[in-house]
Amino acid sequence: MVMELRYNPLIGEWVMVSSVRETRPWQPSNQCPFDEGNEETGTGWRFLILPNRFPMLTPNAPEAHKVDGFRARRSLGYCFVIVETPKHDLSDLHEIPLEDLTLVLRGVRDKMRELEEVSFIRYIYFFRNKGKEIGVSLTHPHSQMYALPYVPLRVRLELRNMRRYMKRTGKCLLCSVLEEEVKLSERVLYANSDYYVIKPYYSMWPYEVHVIPRRHVQKMTQLSDGELTTLADALRVTTAILDNVLVRDMPYIMALHQGPVKNDESYHMHVEFYPMLRDANKLKYAAGVEWGLWTFTYDSSPEDKARELKETCRKVSQSLKPMGSCA
Ligand code: ZN
Ligand code: FE
Repeated sequence: MVMELRYNPLIGEWVMVSSVRETRPWQPSNQCPFDEGNEETGTGWRFLILPNRFPMLTPNAPEAHKVDGFRARRSLGYCFVIVETPKHDLSDLHEIPLEDLTLVLRGVRDKMRELEEVSFIRYIYFFRNKGKEIGVSLTHPHSQMYALPYVPLRVRLELRNMRRYMKRTGKCLLCSVLEEEVKLSERVLYANSDYYVIKPYYSMWPYEVHVIPRRHVQKMTQLSDGELTTLADALRVTTAILDNVLVRDMPYIMALHQGPVKNDESYHMHVEFYPMLRDANKLKYAAGVEWGLWTFTYDSSPEDKARELKETCRKVSQSLKPMGSCA
């Protein structure tokens, strides 16, 4: 059995290797393990944070195998599944009532506060995969949390650029981006008292959308209860827009980009959504150019897509009754 982190010195990033994961079930058609009343879930809950049964990282990981010329280390960390509702059939976050989703986010934040105290944890990643197109094996609404023993490459890259910008200008990079987006307003989809929902100028995915706090804040553990209510509101609006813009449900990846556990004041947290479709029946593939180079090709214009998304925001907000307003 192999379970370890292997270092790719060419890009400077770790690979999580685990042969245990091969036995993972794929979209089981029988009983859903996240439904109420199972041995794992029990009854009388509104959301659950469960240890992943097939974790990539665990606090009792075996020693890494030593191989000459290469670097490996123990897969130390935690993997959790957040079951967001006992209701199996809800299609996305916007169908979870605001108060319930707020409780979920509080649960996540409080779990993060606990994990931040663990000596070997350097980074906490909260994310959500939706849709069979991206290989989600269970349809019951859930998200995930990984506590990692290192700061991942993409975050290191963002952090480096934010640090440099702050050094050069004395300002935060994302605060400046946000200021410009708000000034132009063309790509601002929605705003409530604490967050903006933006179609970024530098979008990589056709329907990519970011949720950005107005306050210069690094991590989810710094958010107040009130800021979690408004975050829940912004996430409900965003998922409602994505679920309706193509009049079919949208497979996507939601990624919380927050600063490392060891706080760095130059970082500004945000939530990125990478929707997988370019139109109602075409997937946008990360293919040769995207995967081979990490350069994305954008087949439309972010401004055109922003117009579509804004229109959808106005449509969905009639029934959603959000706290803020569509731009
Ligand atoms: Zn900032
Ligand atoms: Fe980011």
